[in-house]
Amino acid sequence: MTRACTHTPAPATPQPASVEGRACRTCTLCCRLPDIDALDKPANAWCRHCTAGHGCAIYPERPTLCRDFLCAWMTRPDLEPEWDPLVAKMMVYEQGPQTTVLVDPDHPAIWREAPYAAMLERWATEAEAKGGYVILFVGDAVFKIAPSAR
Ligand code: SF4
Ligand code: SF4
Repeated sequence: MTRACTHTPAPATPQPASVEGRACRTCTLCCRLPDIDALDKPANAWCRHCTAGHGCAIYPERPTLCRDFLCAWMTRPDLEPEWDPLVAKMMVYEQGPQTTVLVDPDHPAIWREAPYAAMLERWATEAEAKGGYVILFVGDAVFKIAPSAR
């Protein structure tokens, strides 16, 4: 499936290194939230290779798409601790001008709450100044985050 506002992460080239001290730990949001055509996986459904409590069952042979993907929290040292996906219940990634935020449907309102609502508005304002924008997915709903009113 192809969407104008893409929901499917694609690795940057070259893939940036992960920020020192950060690790996925028990997070598996990127095995659940995005749609991944190569794995025939719809959005918000567990990848068939993800096993509860163990993560990827095909880790040594996982697809290149998975091998090369790191979310923004893993690669952007400027993201605050609140954006740890285990805390935020959201995963963030960037593709060109688009910053994509996928919200765990088990926590559908968290992005409207403090501190995230104000942070997302700030991101949208900063992105707009550079010709970019922030798109947020919650279940089947899609929102373009509005920049701060001037
Ligand atoms: S969403 Fe980020 S922190 Fe979570 S498993 Fe994927 S890359 Fe790791
Ligand atoms: S193949 Fe493995 S790493 Fe890739 S989405 Fe599925 S469980 Fe996650």
